[in-house]
Amino acid sequence: MIIKLETITAEDYFGGCPVCGEACLINVETEDCPSESWFVCQTHFVKWFVGSGLFSNLNSPEEEGQNWILLDRCREVVPVAEGEVIRRYGRN
Ligand SMILES: [Zn+2]
Repeated sequence: MIIKLETITAEDYFGGCPVCGEACLINVETEDCPSESWFVCQTHFVKWFVGSGLFSNLNSPEEEGQNWILLDRCREVVPVAEGEVIRRYGRN
């Protein structure tokens, strides 16, 4: 097995997953706000909050429920900033 060093640059304005740099926007409705926005990485189950009322929440009730399930599974982290380089060891 070869283990090699990979470098990944976070490309999203709102930051990226500390492990892989990915960012996926999800919106949820809360008691206080019709659209709270989070970014998640669905591979590493991490999330970070980006703001309230930034993006429209266009979820169907089913999507809203799925987003809450996903948020519950994710651990809150500090994302890597846009342009920041992540170094990690990958296998292939
Ligand atoms: Zn990730």
